[in-house]
Parts: sequence; structure tokens; C-alpha cells
Amino acid sequence: MKIAILSRNRRLYSTRRLVEAGTERGHEMHVIDILKCYMDITPGNPTIWYMGEKLEGFDAVIPRIGASVTHYGLAVIRQFEMTGAYCLTESVALGRSRDKLRALQLLSRKGLGLPKTSFAYNVHNTKDLIKLVGGAPLVVKLCEGTQGRGVVLAETVKAAESVIEAFRELRAEFLVQEFIKEAGGSDIRCLVIGGKVVAAMQRTAMEGEFRSNLHRGGSAKLVKLTPTERRTAVKAAQTMGLHISGVDILRSSRGPLIMEVNSSPGLEGIEGATQKDVAGAIIAFVEENARPNKTRTRGKG
Ligand code: ADP
Repeated sequence: MKIAILSRNRRLYSTRRLVEAGTERGHEMHVIDILKCYMDITPGNPTIWYMGEKLEGFDAVIPRIGASVTHYGLAVIRQFEMTGAYCLTESVALGRSRDKLRALQLLSRKGLGLPKTSFAYNVHNTKDLIKLVGGAPLVVKLCEGTQGRGVVLAETVKAAESVIEAFRELRAEFLVQEFIKEAGGSDIRCLVIGGKVVAAMQRTAMEGEFRSNLHRGGSAKLVKLTPTERRTAVKAAQTMGLHISGVDILRSSRGPLIMEVNSSPGLEGIEGATQKDVAGAIIAFVEENARPNKTRTRGKG
């Protein structure tokens, strides 16, 4: 198969691993920087160009779109969808998962466990926002944040009010969330491919930190999931419509709570902690599922 990986940097671990796994399995792998793609969107003959060459004949496209280039990345994926190419991560699914509010609303609609979360536009609602999640301690999260940046733990109501006011002053969108203390600075990353959890790791924050992101010095180890956790992760991925995703779960006293469904999960941490060939599993899924014109959304979203 001729497979495109949409990635800005071929040296990134995840990109390298996908190229390696695809090549090993006999595929022709191409790494394409989405920011260097340009498009002809006149009706009838949607095309994508890359450094003077028309991109065509791909059996499958594996998008790995960074958060900072979501908007343009979505346009490139939609264009591939319009040409009939099979996209492992569909534009609509990526769009859902990148919009934190929309993602939480969809998950709550399906009745999946979530930390109590509130959101408002107007400053006059600050006190009520805090009350809705059960008071302090609480977490305030920037909607645009990644890798734990813009996630603040406010220990008291006063601190929470100050953080909320500061974010509002900066005109930033944010969520207010109950703090799941019993998670003890750990969360669980479930790597879900095609309705199955293929690898799971527990990430634990470093001393004095509550955010367990590996980018923030957290450590990772293999973890055994309960059947409920497994079901929750699979259902969360399905709710987003993602064939591959990293579902982050907090273990709480009322069961698993979903924090986020990541549409371009990094492979380095999870392959390292679990010794599983996740890249190979992704390519295997593509082999089984890629058919022309199979992408459901076809550039609609
Ligand atoms: P990002 O998407 O930037 O990684 P997250 O929402 O995943 O932000 O939060 C980063 C980390 O902070 C999580 O991995 C988790 O360890 C911790 N965390 C986030 N929200 C909560 C919460 N409501 N209660 C307890 N810990 C939390």
C-alpha cells in the first residue's frame, strides 16, 4: 500500500515508528508536512499539491496533526477525504476531539463518567461556576492547552476566583473542573485502536506536582485495566469517532472518569512503558480497513 503520514517532522519518535512499522510490513511510506500542502478546491476535481507535485494514489492517510495547526490540518484531511482517500483519523472526529467543550458535551451525552465540569462566558458567573463543581479545591483548564500547560490547581475559592479572573482578562477560554484528589497525581492512558485497548499505562506525576503528563516529568508504567475502565475507554473513542486515540482516565472513588480523548497520541511513552508494538498495530488496522471512499465524512464536517 502507498501510505501517507501527515506529520510536520519525520524525526519525531511516533512518525519514525510508523514509517518503520509500515516499511517492515512492505508498504510505501511517505511523510507529508501538512503546512507544505496546498489545495485546488474548485468543484469537481479536488486536488492536493506538495512542492510542485500532485499528491495522488494514496491507499491510506494517517494524520498526526499537532494542536497548533489543527485548523489547517483539518482542511488538508478534508481535502484528502474529498479525493476518496481513506483517512485513519477523519476530519470530523479530529475536530470533535480538539474542541474540549464539544468533546465533553458528547461524552456526557453518552453518559460516560466525567469530572464535574462547568463553563461560562460572563465574569458575573464566577462564584456559581465554582459552586457547580462543588467548591475548592478545583482545577481550571485552558481550552487551548496541551501537555498540561494551562492546567491550574486552585486550593481555595479565593485562589480559584483569582485564576478565573486572570484567564478572563486574557480573553482565554477555560473550563472549571472538580479536582479528583483520590487519583493521587496519576492518570491512565489507554491506547485504543479500532474498538480495542491495545496498550495502557499509568502515568504518575513527579513529587509536588498533580499533573501526570510525561512532558512535565511524570513517569509511566504498565497497568492492568478493570473491565469497566476498558469499556469506558472504548466507548469514549467510539463517541469521538476515532479509530485510533489515546483516552486519558482518572481513577476516582466513583469509577473511571474521562479527562480527554487525544486524536494524535504519542507513541514513545506508551511503547516504552508497555513494550507493545503500537505502531505495528496501527498499520495492521489500516491494512484491514483502508478502502477507497470508505471515509465516512468525505470532507463534510
Ligand atoms: P492536557 O490536555 O494539557 O494534558 P489534562 O486535562 O490532561 O491537560 O490535564 C493534565 C494532567 O493534570 C492530567 O494528566 C492529570 O494528571 C491532571 N488533572 C487534570 N484534570 C484533573 C482533575 N480534574 N483532577 C485531578 N487531576 C487532574
